[in-house]
Amino acid sequence: DERRVLQFQITLYGDDERLLMARDITRLHRLEQMRRDFVANVSHELRTPLTVLSGYLETYSDYADQLPARFARGLAQMQEQTTRMQNLVNDLLLLSRLEIDQRTDDATPVRVSELLEAIRRDGESLSGGRHILSVELDDDRQLLGSEQELRSAVSNLVFNAVRYTAEGCHIVLRWRAYGAGACLEVEDDGDGIDPVHIPRLTERFYRVDKGRSTATGGTGLGLAIVKHVLLRHDASLEIDSHPGSGALFRCVFPKTRLIATNNDRSEVQR
Ligand code: ADP
Repeated sequence: DERRVLQFQITLYGDDERLLMARDITRLHRLEQMRRDFVANVSHELRTPLTVLSGYLETYSDYADQLPARFARGLAQMQEQTTRMQNLVNDLLLLSRLEIDQRTDDATPVRVSELLEAIRRDGESLSGGRHILSVELDDDRQLLGSEQELRSAVSNLVFNAVRYTAEGCHIVLRWRAYGAGACLEVEDDGDGIDPVHIPRLTERFYRVDKGRSTATGGTGLGLAIVKHVLLRHDASLEIDSHPGSGALFRCVFPKTRLIATNNDRSEVQR
């Protein structure tokens, strides 16, 4: 189509001078769109064959005890790698869906306390009792947004905290007032992240330690998904960490995305 995409930049000079620059970024925009469509299409096409593969592998694994040990090991490996590919395809599809719109109009009130409690339980089952997970609620406002998206963003942060910290570490999921709005924090007391990596962590497939990340089952897209979900909620991600002193991921929401809790539901229940 003939629509053109322009980017404007205003620079202030002193008190009374302004410089306005306009850039035609139509071509860049189109290329970006093609990249997104391509990734979404490939991911979509890979879904069916992977489902077929994993279906057969599951059936065969019922007979694993009748197989020679090395075949049984191979079968387990195939299942593990197929699951990895499925996770990757799902994350790629999710990311390309999130990238379509910069902002979500979904403004459903989300009960943060319930959301965090559900994610804490999921984190606990991933951890298998090796970590101590807790929820701290210092704000009772609700968040306006997409519960599904927020859940996948916060789950990614909590699953990372489980995956990248040692046994016995503490993980806190926190909801509190912050600046003019509120923030949702996931904090751990693990080994932390070297600050040189922090600016690049939300890039797709960026990993601090590639070998370790692959072994932990991550797709390399977790924090990119978090960043996009937050962008779509007018929110931002702050990361604070120093090697040896844990990691803190803070999702900062503006006041416009908050609403006072209405207790209608509890009254109905009573
Ligand atoms: P991955 O699938 O590799 O986990 P992410 O985008 O979720 O991809 O995370 C990017 C990288 O950030 C990880 O590979 C890991 O090195 C680092 N990281 C994320 N969370 C933590 C954490 N809580 N503690 C230490 N390192 C972390």
